[in-house]
Amino acid sequence: MITFVGAGPGAPDLITLRGQRAIAAADLIIYAGSLVNPALLEYRTEGCAVLDSAGMTLEEVVQAMAEAHANNQRVVRLHTGDPSLYGAIREQMERLEALGIPYDIVPGVSSFLGAVAALKAELTVPGISQTVILTRMPGRTPVPEKEDIAGLAAHRASMAIFLSAAMLEELAAKLISGGYAASTPAAIVHKATWADERIVRTSLEHLARDAREHGIAKTAMVLVGDFLGPEAGRSRLYDPSFSHGYRDSNR
Ligand code: SAH
Repeated sequence: MITFVGAGPGAPDLITLRGQRAIAAADLIIYAGSLVNPALLEYRTEGCAVLDSAGMTLEEVVQAMAEAHANNQRVVRLHTGDPSLYGAIREQMERLEALGIPYDIVPGVSSFLGAVAALKAELTVPGISQTVILTRMPGRTPVPEKEDIAGLAAHRASMAIFLSAAMLEELAAKLISGGYAASTPAAIVHKATWADERIVRTSLEHLARDAREHGIAKTAMVLVGDFLGPEAGRSRLYDPSFSHGYRDSNR
């Protein structure tokens, strides 16, 4: 059995209990060494083998999984954050299916949520934004043209932008040309929930400059939108005049 496990954003106690148990039961862990906090490996038992996938090809990863499976071993494939986001798990799952190897997925706390918590923000502030867009700039891996950042910016929703900390000038220009005001609040969170986490609060127009001044160029989450602004108003959910299934406004 192969278990894809979301490692969470960094802090070792932000993995799920199920994920931690899978690590503790594993005979082999294959982890993405560039992003997963190695402290998570301490949940493994003695005798559990560890491979860093950073220097491996897809074929090598799948081969290591297949060999371990053939020896009746339990394999954990540890991915940063949640495996379903920019984790390239689909290609692994397709190959496992072709080989008839069973697998399972344990979700994780994505780094965008770690970053939002670090900012003490709410992504869906009533009256400001009720939509979250998760995306990235095209880099060496392309993004389909229909999802061009300028087009997504037209919604002026809450946005979390992965994998783009090295392209902030271009990112901000696209967001502004697409519809956000240059003064829209923005933040960049470097290594959210790690011991050396850093937070920079800024605006779209100063995003690239402020990140540069703080020396942030990778492993960072960019957040953009008026949800980061100062005024929130109040939600209807907790408004005394608003009834819902658990509370009657006439009580
Ligand atoms: N599956 C992961 C994302 C992997 S892509 C998840 O759900 O979080 C890698 C990108 O995620 C990085 O370029 C960065 O944008 C972001 N990232 C990962 N860990 C991060 C962290 N601790 N703080 C901020 N951004 C992080």
